[in-house]
Amino acid sequence: MRRPISIKHDFVEFIPKERQEGVLYVSIPYATAVHNCFCGCGLKVVTPISPVSWQLTFDGETVTLSPSVGSWSFPCRSHYFIRRDTVIWAGNMSQDEIEWGRTQDREVRDRHFGTQAAAPAQVRKRKRGFWDWLTGR
Ligand SMILES: [Zn+2]
Repeated sequence: MRRPISIKHDFVEFIPKERQEGVLYVSIPYATAVHNCFCGCGLKVVTPISPVSWQLTFDGETVTLSPSVGSWSFPCRSHYFIRRDTVIWAGNMSQDEIEWGRTQDREVRDRHFGTQAAAPAQVRKRKRGFWDWLTGR
């Protein structure tokens, strides 16, 4: 069981060549986030930020990247979520963590779209299905 780990984020213009472990580098001008795989293998993970790839949320203190980061092509095959400057390993998420993630998603969505009741039922259902798919349930 891998425990969630705290990371840092760093807003930069250019992604540095020498990157610290445990730091998510975010370039807003280039709409890209880059980090060294948080499993510790050191391989470079590039997550373009766009409506159809990853979305970055900055709440004023921490960043959240969604959807999850799955490095299937790496030997480590890491799969984790970056939520509020915390790495949550997807492979062994407990029920509590999954519920926590769902609650977070719901809160973010509610803030954005108004109350949950106001959102179309179909959208709610589809998003829940996507989360289940991500977490392999
Ligand atoms: Zn790795």
